[in-house]
Amino acid sequence: MGKLNVTILRYLTKEDFRVLTAIEMGMKNHELVPGSLAASIANLRHGGVHKLLKELCKNRLLSYERGKHYDGYRLTNAGYDYLALKTLTSKNAVSSFGNQIGVGKESNIYVVANEEGQPLCLKLHRLGRTCFRNIKEKRDYHQHRHTASWLYLSRISATKEFAYMKALHERDFPVPKPIDFNRHCVVMELVEGKPFCQMHEVADVESLYDELMDLIVRLGNHGVIHGDFNEFNIIITNEGKPILIDFPQMISTSHPNAEMFFDRDVNCIRDFFKRRFGYESSLHPTFSDVMREDNLDVEVSASGFTRQMEKDLYVEMGIEKDDNESVEVGEELDKRIGHSEVEQLKNKAEDMLNDEVDCEVQNNSEECVINNNSESDI
Ligand code: ADP
Ligand code: MG
Repeated sequence: MGKLNVTILRYLTKEDFRVLTAIEMGMKNHELVPGSLAASIANLRHGGVHKLLKELCKNRLLSYERGKHYDGYRLTNAGYDYLALKTLTSKNAVSSFGNQIGVGKESNIYVVANEEGQPLCLKLHRLGRTCFRNIKEKRDYHQHRHTASWLYLSRISATKEFAYMKALHERDFPVPKPIDFNRHCVVMELVEGKPFCQMHEVADVESLYDELMDLIVRLGNHGVIHGDFNEFNIIITNEGKPILIDFPQMISTSHPNAEMFFDRDVNCIRDFFKRRFGYESSLHPTFSDVMREDNLDVEVSASGFTRQMEKDLYVEMGIEKDDNESVEVGEELDKRIGHSEVEQLKNKAEDMLNDEVDCEVQNNSEECVINNNSESDI
């Protein structure tokens, strides 16, 4: 675990950004993006795409690979990180980068800071590449849409996390304040405290147990189940208050298996209290205690998650099985992700060439914490 290597954010130009964005767009329906396609999407005023592509490969933001039918470029993790971080710095959501503080199941977590020097938490979602849970099922499910699947999955995971965190925060749930997101990156409040899994004593075991159980029920009353409610996803602040994190797998209480997911969350907490503190309560909530008073689940779904996107994410996370034979590739996948989004990306690339963003980023990066000895880190 080291620092995020952001040296590269200083040196790359608007044209580099545009070429990377072109590869990102090409990857929506190509596993490998041929140089000629990259050139036509990027459409640089003075040409020279091939030289830029080569440089980007040297910096490990792209890789050039041989495919079965043709050769081409693809974004590396570092390249995708770069696109997101560049966008977040140009929006002034983030202006300096610090240490990695965690490796989750499906993420890397860093401390970053905004312009005022306030520390924040940056979560980079990494799905579809490094996670080996239900590997066979997932392989079957994703094999025909391998194209862009890690970009796509990491991005919907981050988008979903941000949407739930925002809805929960607005309702005064104890969650980090969401700040911004882009692609597979979420920026949120940095919670000062200790992961619950590392705590061996707490001031009042019984009242903490009650507080957590009440939280599970209150989530249920708002129409949602956390789905991974355990000691790894709870941070206890220095004042002893539990803060809930990690939301990509949240599930509606209307899901056919809602009761099972609800019970699983409750049992994770019961088991942990028994194991760690020798505490067993005769009381614990059941799904029938849930009284719906809000439609947070519906609100978040309506804000941009198509059923298919949620389904893809749930299959990846092992929450649902693939019971759907239909397979989407190329154009179909592109249609689902949305042409309007492709248009947006094109416009974004256009904006990047035409506005001042680059200067801003260069100014900000003067304050960046730079790490020179880990070229391949980011
Ligand atoms: P994953 O989905 O990969 O499990 P998490 O969101 O659970 O990722 O984060 C992994 C770890 O990073 C957490 O266990 C916690 O220690 C740390 N972490 C995550 N978010 C924050 C935050 N907002 N403030 C402080 N630490 C955090
Ligand atoms: Mg977690």
